[in-house]
Amino acid sequence: MSDKLMPDKPMTDDEYTLAEGNRCPVCRTDMIEGGSIEVNAGTATQEVSCLLCHAEWTDIYNLVGYCDLTYEGRTLNHLETEIKGNE
Ligand SMILES: [Zn+2]
Repeated sequence: MSDKLMPDKPMTDDEYTLAEGNRCPVCRTDMIEGGSIEVNAGTATQEVSCLLCHAEWTDIYNLVGYCDLTYEGRTLNHLETEIKGNE
């Protein structure tokens, strides 16, 4: 059968995210290399390539929130305390 020459069925999105994007979706190696990241409104994409089987694909990132907020040199916690203290 010529099936042996074909690569395995590529990973699904679920399988890929479960592996935290650290695997090639074709050959499953962790020898992958990330390229430049492009940030758009609410999403970002990164080109990735496999050093072993030379597959190329694009990772998709979604914005999930933010952290480490500072305002006028203070963190959010300090700010909340100050606002409550002024009430
Ligand atoms: Zn590969």
